[in-house]
Amino acid sequence: MKIYTVCKKHIISTGHRIYGHPGKCANLHGHSYEFHFYITAPVLDNLGMVVDFSYIKQTLCAWLDSNYDHRMLIWEQDPIAQELLAIDKSVVLVPYNPSAENMANYLLTVVAPQLITNPQVKVEKVMVGEGPTSIATCQMKE
Ligand SMILES: [Zn+2]
Repeated sequence: MKIYTVCKKHIISTGHRIYGHPGKCANLHGHSYEFHFYITAPVLDNLGMVVDFSYIKQTLCAWLDSNYDHRMLIWEQDPIAQELLAIDKSVVLVPYNPSAENMANYLLTVVAPQLITNPQVKVEKVMVGEGPTSIATCQMKE
């Protein structure tokens, strides 16, 4: 059996902090985040594609642009979350401590299933790079 995979990369700038981190990751700071969406299909469509790259751009990449780009991600259980939101409405409260790993998991298991409705294709893996050198991956496993 074979499987085809395409990968779409998208880069945005986002702030965060890791609540409870013993070092400088507990500070409010930001990254140029690099997202890689890996999408698979067992067969190609009639154009010879897993899925048109523009479909990924219009769904997952557009979601990132609307929801996370140039925003500050703060865990909703972070004790300063409500204070930050009161100061600046661009703060985004997220249901996870915003590590790259948790971000990848959320995109793979919550966001992608809502946006990718084509039953022929599957988002198999999400990689989140905090810059080009520090990369976390969350992947579906059988
Ligand atoms: Zn960071």
